[in-house]
Amino acid sequence: MRALHKENHLIERIGWLRAAVLGANDGLISTSSLIVGVAAATPASHEILVAGVAGLVAGAMSMAAGEYVSVSSQADTEKADMARERHELATQPAAELAELAAIYEQRGLSPDLARQVAEQMMAKDAFEAHARDELGLTSHVMARPVQAAFTSAVTFSTGAALPLIVALLVPPTTAAWTVSITCLIGLAVLGAIGARTGGASIWKPAARVVFWGVVALASTAAIGSLVGRAV
Ligand SMILES: [Zn+2]
Repeated sequence: MRALHKENHLIERIGWLRAAVLGANDGLISTSSLIVGVAAATPASHEILVAGVAGLVAGAMSMAAGEYVSVSSQADTEKADMARERHELATQPAAELAELAAIYEQRGLSPDLARQVAEQMMAKDAFEAHARDELGLTSHVMARPVQAAFTSAVTFSTGAALPLIVALLVPPTTAAWTVSITCLIGLAVLGAIGARTGGASIWKPAARVVFWGVVALASTAAIGSLVGRAV
């Protein structure tokens, strides 16, 4: 029982940490690419920093909005499910009792015991018993749009801050290279953290994310320098 309990907590932590790693990853790669693209076009410190700050703010807002919309629609579905459940509990309690007993029977209880458990659960809090055991909803797995939006914006900004700080500290002529290298190191570290929490080997995911980082940085640098020469 203890092992099972521990495992559940691990799964929760992976979900949370994975989301944070993905957000930071996005912020790091998009802001670094933006800075490298601008630095390749024009080695002017002011433009590079404006691009970096704009990239951080725009990205954080877009992540937050996207997350808010997606988690809100999940929350709407959950709310509709719960409203239907409340209605069914109020209008057909006998059928709901049989339904809950059937769920416990399916999980391995004998018919008599399942009915007894269902009765006692429903006597305490019928709605909570149905929400948890039928819909799979407990207060800590329920969708929270504002919290999700805030978390995305913060993790994205954290990733985006790294190349921005580097761009602030180095001379503009070297920004393209230093930001690229910082970005790749950051991606490797995030890839390793993500793999570690998933229990996988750290090298393959880290190499994969660094490869795509190189692709992103090289393409924006190439396009940035082309546009820089053209305009
Ligand atoms: Zn029900």
